[in-house]
Amino acid sequence: MIKKSNFRISIIILGLAIVGFSIILLNLDGKSRLGSKTQLQQLASFPIPHPTIQYGFVLDTFQVSRDTIQDNEFLADILLRHKVPFSDIDELARATKDSFDVRGLRADKPYTILATDTSKAAQYFIYEPSVFSYVIFDLQNKTANKIERPVNTTIKSGAGIIQSSLWNAMTDNGMSFELAASMEDALAWSIDFHHIQKDDRFKLVYEERSIDGQPVGIGKILGAYYKNVDNEYYAIHFENERHAGYYDLEARSMEKAFLKAPVKYSRISSRYNLRRFHPVLRRTRPHFGTDYAAPTGTPIYAVADGLVTKRSRTRGNGNFVKLKHDDVYQTQYLHMSRFATGVNVGTHVKQGQTIGYVGQTGLANGPHVCFRFWKNGKQINHLREIFPPAKPMKAEDLPSFYEYRDDVVYQLDTVLSPDQINPEIVSTNP
Ligand SMILES: [Zn+2]
Repeated sequence: MIKKSNFRISIIILGLAIVGFSIILLNLDGKSRLGSKTQLQQLASFPIPHPTIQYGFVLDTFQVSRDTIQDNEFLADILLRHKVPFSDIDELARATKDSFDVRGLRADKPYTILATDTSKAAQYFIYEPSVFSYVIFDLQNKTANKIERPVNTTIKSGAGIIQSSLWNAMTDNGMSFELAASMEDALAWSIDFHHIQKDDRFKLVYEERSIDGQPVGIGKILGAYYKNVDNEYYAIHFENERHAGYYDLEARSMEKAFLKAPVKYSRISSRYNLRRFHPVLRRTRPHFGTDYAAPTGTPIYAVADGLVTKRSRTRGNGNFVKLKHDDVYQTQYLHMSRFATGVNVGTHVKQGQTIGYVGQTGLANGPHVCFRFWKNGKQINHLREIFPPAKPMKAEDLPSFYEYRDDVVYQLDTVLSPDQINPEIVSTNP
């Protein structure tokens, strides 16, 4: 809540300013009737003030100072510079502890100080923990109020054709890295994003969130379309009382029991290969895993819900975790730089949960995760494994799903591809 009395004072001051300004206008106008042309011209060029309103205050009625919190800077350091007595700061900190703990101020976050007169103690300290909200500290009444900024959601669309990488295809067509990550989330069970190829194409219909007209992030992906040499995929985001998530055109959940890969934004550096030349041992040795190269510290995800059966270190494997998913499948993740906290033998982990971080411990010649997949006690190539499809949603949900699906598919189908917008973009696989 904005402190009403002060807001009212601000409005009154603005009101008085406008009245004063009108009187000047009237006076000039009165004179001009009698006076010269010069006075008329002066009147015409007289600037009309537009009040600057921010945080619910008319800023024109204050001395405004803006800055960002410095490293190791406390509220007291800032407010003392703005002539607020230490006893008042102490009282403020205690009085506002429950609404916003002043020890929670973070370096690099912006703040604004409002004072009626810089020779006197400041009146307001306004802190912005994120673009989504701000906190107004009333330094006289010792209150703190957090205000959430209204977020607008608009529906946007985009399309791309892979030339070199997914990220390039996104950014070349005006889409963000965040959007690429969301698309990966929507299609993670269907598309092996480590194996995308030139001329693969995609289309997206998604929510963009904005505050005061400035984009602040991506909301939901409402629909995603992906086409590669083998297949085309649609993922439709659907929510009702019983379901929430991505579904294919037949109302089957896109979520499969296993994710395609244990890391995002990586590349496969070595495949499952029974006759592989080992780069460290320098001799032929079967490679029973798939290596995903990624920078040290990249989170490694559990590809499915499971139980941690090993969390250990050996000379060859380095730090590794092994998961048991059911009586048939087990997975193992090698060469971690470190384990995620809370991941111990006996811990149950969820699909997508971080279990450790990419490193090069053990026999490894660069940061990567060696991912191993067991089926009935034998190591297999998980990229070749076909998992059973999920069941479709209940019959009672189908009519509303189909109606929504048709709408999203129509929107996806009407998004123009880059080569439709600009025919000079040559694609060999339209
Ligand atoms: Zn490996």
